[in-house]
Amino acid sequence: MSEGTIPASLPLRNDLIGEEPYGAPQLDVPVCLNVNENPYPPSHAVVRSIEKRVREAAAGLNRYPDREHMELRQAFVDYLAKESQADLTTDEVWGANGSNEIMLQLFQAFGGPGRNAIGCDPTYSMYPEYARDTFTTWNTAPRRADFTLDVDATIAAIDANEPSMVVLTSPNNPTGTPLPMPDLERILDHCQNARVAGAADGVHPIVVVDEAYIEFRDPGTPSATTLVGTYANLAVSRTMSKAFAFAGARVGYIAASKGIIDCLRIVRMPYHLSAVTQAAALAGFDHTDEQLSQVGHLRETREATAAWLREQTYAGKPLEVAPSQSNFLMFGGHFDDRGAIFDEMLERGVLIRVVGPEGWLRVCMGTDEEMKVFRKTLVESMRAVE
Ligand code: PMP
Repeated sequence: MSEGTIPASLPLRNDLIGEEPYGAPQLDVPVCLNVNENPYPPSHAVVRSIEKRVREAAAGLNRYPDREHMELRQAFVDYLAKESQADLTTDEVWGANGSNEIMLQLFQAFGGPGRNAIGCDPTYSMYPEYARDTFTTWNTAPRRADFTLDVDATIAAIDANEPSMVVLTSPNNPTGTPLPMPDLERILDHCQNARVAGAADGVHPIVVVDEAYIEFRDPGTPSATTLVGTYANLAVSRTMSKAFAFAGARVGYIAASKGIIDCLRIVRMPYHLSAVTQAAALAGFDHTDEQLSQVGHLRETREATAAWLREQTYAGKPLEVAPSQSNFLMFGGHFDDRGAIFDEMLERGVLIRVVGPEGWLRVCMGTDEEMKVFRKTLVESMRAVE
C-alpha cells in the first residue's frame, strides 16, 4: 500500500498522505536474520502448556477477558524479580500486545499536540511513528561516534525542547549499545526538575527506557527496572518477543510507578489483551527457564560473530562492529553500497537488514547452522560487490 494505491477520494489524514506502512520485509527465504527474533522455537513441553491453557481459555471465550490481566501481571512481577532482581507489585506492571503497543500507549498518554518527545539517534525507527500517530513532535539528540549515549547532549536537548517524554533504548537498536546505569540516573535526576513545554509548573518529563533486548546483556549488569521504586517518572518497557522467544504471541509489558500505569489505563482499549494472549503468555511463564535457555548461547554466538566480522575486510579495510549487548550486531561502517551487499545476500537466501547510519548493516543471531551460512554468504557477497 502506498501513495499511488490509496484513492485520492479517501479522507486520509493530511499528515499521513504519502506515508508507507512500516515493517521489515517478510520474505520466504531459507535464513531470516532481519528482525531480531530468537531462532529457537518453543519446546514440545511449552507447546503442550500453551495448548492446555488456551483450551481452558477457549471454553470461556463468550466472556470478555480480565481487563486488568491480574494473573499475568503477577507473572510479570515474578519474572522481573527472578530475571532482574526488581522488587515490584502488580500495581507497577502492565501488559499489552507487544512492547509496540506499550510504547503507543505511553505516547497516547504522555504525548499529544503541542508536546514533544526526545530520542537518541540512531535508534529504533518506530519511535517517530508512535509520535506521528499521536500528534507528538519527535526530536533527537545525537549519539557519540561510537554510538554511546551522549548524556550532556541529551540533557542539552531536554533543556532546549522541554519534552514530555525522553525515550532511551538499552540495549539500543540498531547499534546494540547498552546505557550505563550512572548515565541513566543522571538523565532521570535531571528530568525530576526539567520543564514540559506548555505544561504547568511542577510537571516534569517521564523517562522511558526500552529494554526489549535487555536479557542479552552481560550477566550481572543491572536493569532499569530496579530503579522503578526510586523514580516515579521512570517507565521501563520490556517484551517477551526477543530473549523469551515469544514474538508470535505479541506480549510486551512495562514496569513503572503506579501513577504511570494508571495513566496508561486511561488510554488502553477496553479488553486490549485477549484471553487467548493472556493464556499463551502465562503458559510461557510456566516455562521461564526453558524459554530463556538459549540466551547464553546466543550471547556466545554474538561474541564469536563479532570477533569473526572484525577479521573480515571490505575494500581492503577491516569491518567495524559496534559493541553489542543484544542479539544482533551492526557491522561494516564503510560499505559504500550497503544495499548491493544486502541484495547479494538475499539472492543467496540470507535476509539481513539495511538499517542504521549509511555504511552499516545489521544481522541478528541465528542458529549455529544459520550463522555458518551467514558467514559464507557475507564473504561471497562482499567479494561480488567490491
Ligand atoms: N523496541 C525495540 C527497540 C525493538 O527493536 C522492538 C522490535 N523490533 C520493539 C520494541 C517491539 O517489539 P515487540 O512489539 O515485539 O515487543
